[in-house]
Amino acid sequence: MTNILRQFSFELPTRIEYGVGIVSKLGDELKKLRAQKVCIITDPGIIKAGLLGKIKPILNEEGISYSIFDGIDPNPKDRNVESGARTVSSFQADAMIAMGGGSVIDCAKAIGVLVSHGGERIKDFEGRTKVKKPILPFVAIPTTAGTGSEVTFSAVITDTENNYKMTVKSPYMAAKVAMLDPELTVTVPPHITASTGMDALTHAIEAYTVKVSEPVSDALALYAVELITQNLARAVKDGENIEARASMLVGSLLAGIAFSHSDVGSVHCMAEALGGIYDAPHGVCNAVLLPYVMEYNAEFCIEKYARIAKAMGETFETSREGAMKAVERVKKLAKEVGLPSFKSLGVKESDLERLADMAAGNISTDSNPREMSKEDYLVLFK
Ligand code: NAD
Repeated sequence: MTNILRQFSFELPTRIEYGVGIVSKLGDELKKLRAQKVCIITDPGIIKAGLLGKIKPILNEEGISYSIFDGIDPNPKDRNVESGARTVSSFQADAMIAMGGGSVIDCAKAIGVLVSHGGERIKDFEGRTKVKKPILPFVAIPTTAGTGSEVTFSAVITDTENNYKMTVKSPYMAAKVAMLDPELTVTVPPHITASTGMDALTHAIEAYTVKVSEPVSDALALYAVELITQNLARAVKDGENIEARASMLVGSLLAGIAFSHSDVGSVHCMAEALGGIYDAPHGVCNAVLLPYVMEYNAEFCIEKYARIAKAMGETFETSREGAMKAVERVKKLAKEVGLPSFKSLGVKESDLERLADMAAGNISTDSNPREMSKEDYLVLFK
């Protein structure tokens, strides 16, 4: 069904600066923020890859003092946020630089919330209504092509008491500027390139097919599908291929803008449940679930899947044939880039009820093109 008569509003609070080598302009961006003392929010993988070497000389040259907080786990935890907020507050930083993948950028957003609101527990800000004012300003420098977190207004943080991934969401949490430099993604190892790339593809497909989609995000999502399907395998096989890396980074950006204005669907609801209980990489969870959920949803979005197939470069006679081609292409791509199977996540039979419950309770469940109950999720997990 077309969404052309649905009302929508579209606002992107984050300015985007994109280009090969663009990170060299970080000093200009910090000057615009009048930042004198900044905290670099990052993780051990980024430090090991030597990426801070791209920004430290700039800070030294500009006379900007800085501290570094790198205590962030993949699937960032509430304790990471709380310890980061203490570091940022005691350093009295006037801005942050979030350099890393979605885990780092999400953690920076959540740190910004605690610092600006004076809270101690990020759990107190869970949901869409608790962040009431602008957070400490930050520059987002993504180093993976996957989450689009540099342009979204949400942070996904694991509540370690209850083992689930909570969402804190508000337009106040958007980065002031996102600096997207494809060169920074060249060091991402092949298996992470594969899973983060499938995460971005999931964003694009879900943003386009959910009930709350709108025309601007549709346009972004379809071009993201095209860029990602054409370039993911190239980026996995040859990490130095800057054109493939650049296409993936732009694809992930467009998909991020798309889903943050539309929504995600059941793939994410299930992936976040898995991530909360098993601490499994987010991109891997999405990637293994995407073809199954697409098949389950297919009857409810034949026309849209056919458009997706077209964006993937497939040819077909009927929409139904196109829809099936889209599902098959996703399966083929997942296989081509060497993603692990669902079984490899080690999901226990005894956890299925809880997983289904968590997925059904996710804030995005109602957006899925097919009505989803706990029983539907149980069928899918099984
Ligand atoms: P990640 O940030 O967890 O990074 C995965 C690993 O890759 C880390 O060990 C990291 O150090 C390493 N890495 C990152 N960039 C690298 C580089 N250039 N070179 C070498 N190593 C590098 O992975 P991710 O997939 O980007 O982020 C996942 C998180 O983002 C999850 O918690 C997920 O829930 C969240 N997420 C958030 C949003 C949002 O809109 N806020 C959307 C989707 C996902």
